[in-house]
Amino acid sequence: YQSIECRKLVKAFRGDGVETHALKQVDLVLEGGKFISLIGPSGSGKSTLLSLIGTLDEPTSGELLHGGQSVSRLNSRQLADFRFETIGFIFQQFHLIPTLTALENIMAPLFGRKVSYDKKERSLKLLELVGLSEKANALPSQLSGGQQQRIAIARALVHEPKWLLADEPTGNLDFETGEVIFQLLQRLNQEKGCGVLFVTHDPQLANRADRKIEMRDGEIIADSQARHYA
Ligand code: ADP
Ligand code: ADP
Repeated sequence: YQSIECRKLVKAFRGDGVETHALKQVDLVLEGGKFISLIGPSGSGKSTLLSLIGTLDEPTSGELLHGGQSVSRLNSRQLADFRFETIGFIFQQFHLIPTLTALENIMAPLFGRKVSYDKKERSLKLLELVGLSEKANALPSQLSGGQQQRIAIARALVHEPKWLLADEPTGNLDFETGEVIFQLLQRLNQEKGCGVLFVTHDPQLANRADRKIEMRDGEIIADSQARHYA
């Protein structure tokens, strides 16, 4: 398990002379292997926090540590390797490559990487794990939203990351399909031991996580794990 630590993370965006503080000195420790939900109104900074934790974007100030190591000194090549070893992303809009089959989408993160295992075999196993073995050769356009998200989850796991960062993965799905995806993520968290950071607008789903963190206006305003939050 690998923990994540945010130390006084600040993210400011500047545009038209106006500065938005998307994150205001966020301090946070996320224990590896846990299923953690992140909830808050639109614009509260959830996506920004996820992007920083996933090293897709840099903080304006503050520090991010993965497994006790600061990532701020890594150059872009080292960062790409770090992400490959550590992070899997899932998005609301699936972001599958439309011209690739389901199986090829799952294999895509391994493209150009030297690995010790058989890429296709690994990808087929994941396809089976998400219950879509019969869709190996289907294009994304031939799949339902829930099926596309299951492919996206398999893709996010193909390099066996320590964390799955999920930005409203059920936001584009109907209630029942969202439930299937949520349960799949819970199962993968338990079976694979990878930590899940799950952004959602749905309080019912958020409450079912091991830990619930609530944001507003760039700050953490509640944390089910904290004894006291001022
Ligand atoms: P959430 O995910 O909770 O909806 P975001 O992290 O997307 O919130 O946004 C937090 C704040 O930062 C919002 O005010 C948003 O408009 C602003 N913001 C996010 N990304 C950018 C960006 N790339 N450029 C300018 N402002 C941004
Ligand atoms: P979400 O639905 O996850 O909250 P948003 O709609 O807030 O996502 O943002 C989608 C993308 O647009 C993110 O990458 C975010 O950084 C960017 N973004 C959000 N707000 C702004 C903004 N005001 N200006 C530019 N980019 C933004």
